[in-house]
Amino acid sequence: MSRRIIPVADLSAAPVISGPLQTPSGALHDTLARPLRDLRISVTDRCNFRCVYCMPRAVFDKDYAFLPHSALLSFEEIERLARIFVAHGVEKIRLTGGEPLLRKNLEFLIERLSQLTTPTGRPLDLTLTTNGSLLARKARSLKDAGLSRVTVSLDALDDTLFRRMNDADFAVADVLDGIAAAQAVGLAPVKVNMVVKRGTNDSEIVPMARHFKGSGAVLRFIEYMDVGTSNGWNMAEVLPSADVIARIAEHFPLAPLEAHSAAETAQRWGYADGNGEIGVISSVTRAFCGSCTRARLSTEGKLYLCLFASAGHDLRALLRGGASDADIATAVAEIWQGRADRYSQLRGSNMAEPGAQDARRVEMSYIGG
Ligand code: SAM
Ligand code: SF4
Ligand code: SF4
Repeated sequence: MSRRIIPVADLSAAPVISGPLQTPSGALHDTLARPLRDLRISVTDRCNFRCVYCMPRAVFDKDYAFLPHSALLSFEEIERLARIFVAHGVEKIRLTGGEPLLRKNLEFLIERLSQLTTPTGRPLDLTLTTNGSLLARKARSLKDAGLSRVTVSLDALDDTLFRRMNDADFAVADVLDGIAAAQAVGLAPVKVNMVVKRGTNDSEIVPMARHFKGSGAVLRFIEYMDVGTSNGWNMAEVLPSADVIARIAEHFPLAPLEAHSAAETAQRWGYADGNGEIGVISSVTRAFCGSCTRARLSTEGKLYLCLFASAGHDLRALLRGGASDADIATAVAEIWQGRADRYSQLRGSNMAEPGAQDARRVEMSYIGG
């Protein structure tokens, strides 16, 4: 029997416009005065990996019902929505998934999105997060289509451990080739994301730091998060970023660096010898909800205001129901103006509530990281 474990589809509703039409001004704020600046677009819910912390094989198996093609937003639909979000102030678009490079002809979408400019005429920062398995093959065409940069996920250099973590027998060498290809075509600076699970891959922290030090790629360590409900998350498996920094500093002295921007999720640390930098994303131990300017669009066109949301807003229903751009822009404005999400800040108190950890939440592979 096929199954889907993402209940949010059932909880999501088509937006109902309640006020007068709102013309985008490029300056939309939520209830906590946070502007809308980043849009993450999931272009597929499928993936060729089965990372244990994201799409465990026991859940995402041969009976798992991925979305049918007709449910996915088309490139035309994505572009139409992206244009509206950009008019509302979005400056950065990240394509994600699932594995975004599995979406057929993704370059056509990138070509369209790369033509968009902000209300002040600046080009968008157009990036993509990938597991890197298809990157060596695609780096050139992605760059030619107008992609600015890539972020590549890599959780270990040890090949046996990496294969165990992706649970699909992909080799480290494939991902390293992908990173090299991205650097060679100028999709730079490449960021490399490592999710750290205590007791699983924390032994790889120092080898990864050593490998990428001075390589031009910026390695970032992500605290293992309690996204979704399928990965069996447990606080004991979170290694705080402070420990990551301490472990690296034992081998390579580090000094804190200024953030590039207020909305930056990573805290930057530079090697004392000047030979590169690393970042830590402390989603669990140091919440950054106060500066969260991100909205997420799922593969089937639902707008999520937080990575930990349990319901989205069905923009596809508007698109396919004949709504005008003005209607959709107004719906997006009203949704963002009503946003109060700050899950990570509240996580500590959430945990204390009985049953809180069982709350139904969207899966990371459905809305992207
Ligand atoms: N498949 C692509 C990839 O792996 O880069 C893009 C989608 S993936 C959902 C985006 C990012 O989320 C990856 O860097 C992945 O490591 C991260 N991620 C997934 N589950 C996570 C979790 N439970 N905690 C922290 N990061 C997670
Ligand atoms: Fe796939 Fe990325 Fe999730 Fe791994 S983290 S299973 S590569 S979507
Ligand atoms: Fe943003 Fe939600 Fe993450 Fe807080 S928990 S930083 S609001 S996505």
